[in-house]
Amino acid sequence: MTLSQKDQLYNWHPYTQHQTTGLLPAIVKGDGVYLWDENGKQYLDAISSWWVNPFGHSNPVLAQAIYKQLTTLEHVLFGGFTNKPAVELAEKLLAMLPSNQKKLFYSDNGSTAVEIAIKAALQYFYNKGEKRTKIIAFENGFHGDTFGAMAASGISFFTEAFQGSMLEVVRIPIPTAENDSLTVLNDLLQTNEFAAFIFEPLVQGAAGMVMYEASELDKLIGLCKKNKVFTIADEIMTGFGKTGKTFACDYLTEQPDMICLSKALTGGTIPMAVTSFSQQIFDRFLSENVNKALFHGHTFTGNPTGCAAALAAISLLESEEMQSNIQRIAAQHLAFQKQIKAHPKVKTTRVLGIIFAMEIASAGDQSYYGSLRNQLYDFFIEQGIILRPVGNVVYILPPFITSNEQLEIIYTTLSKALEIV
Ligand SMILES: *Cc1c(COP(=O)(O)O)cnc(C)c1O
Repeated sequence: MTLSQKDQLYNWHPYTQHQTTGLLPAIVKGDGVYLWDENGKQYLDAISSWWVNPFGHSNPVLAQAIYKQLTTLEHVLFGGFTNKPAVELAEKLLAMLPSNQKKLFYSDNGSTAVEIAIKAALQYFYNKGEKRTKIIAFENGFHGDTFGAMAASGISFFTEAFQGSMLEVVRIPIPTAENDSLTVLNDLLQTNEFAAFIFEPLVQGAAGMVMYEASELDKLIGLCKKNKVFTIADEIMTGFGKTGKTFACDYLTEQPDMICLSKALTGGTIPMAVTSFSQQIFDRFLSENVNKALFHGHTFTGNPTGCAAALAAISLLESEEMQSNIQRIAAQHLAFQKQIKAHPKVKTTRVLGIIFAMEIASAGDQSYYGSLRNQLYDFFIEQGIILRPVGNVVYILPPFITSNEQLEIIYTTLSKALEIV
C-alpha cells in the first residue's frame, strides 16, 4: 500500500468530509518553497503550509537551533522551573511587541493562546468582584477550534453543532464604509456585561483575507479603553512580518491589552504559542490568596526546544535579507494586482504586505467549501501549486523566500484559473 492509502485507513484529517474526499498526497520531503509527494510530484507551497512557514521548508538555520537545543535540554516542566530559551524569548518578544505588553504566557497552539486570553479577561473581572461574562468579536472572525476560541469565531458552520454549549459572544461587523461598527460597539459597551473585545487586526485570515483600516480599528480599541473593556489582538495569522510590518498592531496608534501569537512564531517547525499581557492584567492575579492565580497550563508550556526555534526564527525575520524579501514580495503583489484587477472575472483584489487576495466573480456555488472552491483547489493541485481558496476567494501567502520567478509561476496559474471557472 502507498502512504496515501494507509493514511486513508488510519487518519482523520482536519476540516475534512471523509466520505467525499479521495486519497490525499503524502508529502515526503520539503526544501525551500517546494514539497514533494511519494510519487515524486513537486508542489510550490504558496500559502506557507497554513501561514506558518516564512523561511522555507527544512530550513537549516532552524534545524541547527533545534538540534542544538535538543542535545542541551529538550524539555523541562515550566511549573516550578524556568529555562534559558523561555527567558530569552520572553525578553526578545516583549521588546518587539507594543510597549504596554509586559508578561508572556506560553502554550502550544493558536487556539490555546486565545483560550488563555479569554480566560484571563474573564478571571480579571472575577478577581475584581465584578460580573462580566461575555465577550465581543467580529462577524466572520476566526480564533481557533477549542471551546472558548470557537465561541469567539464567527464562521457559523464551524460552530453550529455546539450552539448552546458555548461562552456568550456578541458579534459586531468589521468597520467598512457601509458598517458603522463604532456605534454598534458603543451600544454594547453601555451594558457593562463584557470582559473583552477580540479581533484579528487588519486581516481576517480564515474569512478569506478580508481587510479593514487600521484607523478604524484604532477607534474601536479607543472606545473599549474608555469603557474599561479589554482588547485582545489575535495576531496568530498576521504576526511576524506578513502584513509588511512585524505585527499588524504596528500599524495602530492604540495598544491592545493582550496579544495572541503562534503560527510563524517558530518558522513552521515546533508547535508553540504565546499570549502577552499588559501589567494591569497580570497584577489583578496577584494576591495572598492562591485562588486568584491563573490556574491554566499545558504540559509543554515553555518548552525549551520550541522557544529556541522561535528565537532562531525571529533572528531570520530580523535579517536584512528577509526584511527586503517582504518588501519585494509586497511590491510584486501590487504590480500583479494592477494587472489582474480589470479582468472581467475578478470582482475585487486586496493586498497587505505579502498577502494577496482576489474574489472571483462566478455563477457557481461560492460557499466556503463549495463546488467553485473545490474546482479551483483541484486545478491548483494538478498544476503543482498549493493554494486553498476560501469560497470564491483565492489568496496567496507565500514564504518570504519565494523568488520573483516563483511568484510569476503562482500569478500565471491564478490567471489560468480564471479561464476555467
Ligand atoms: C490559525 C488561527 C488560530 C488557531 O490556531 P491553531 O494553532 O490552529 O489552533 C487562531 N486565530 C487565528 C487568527 C488563526 O489564523
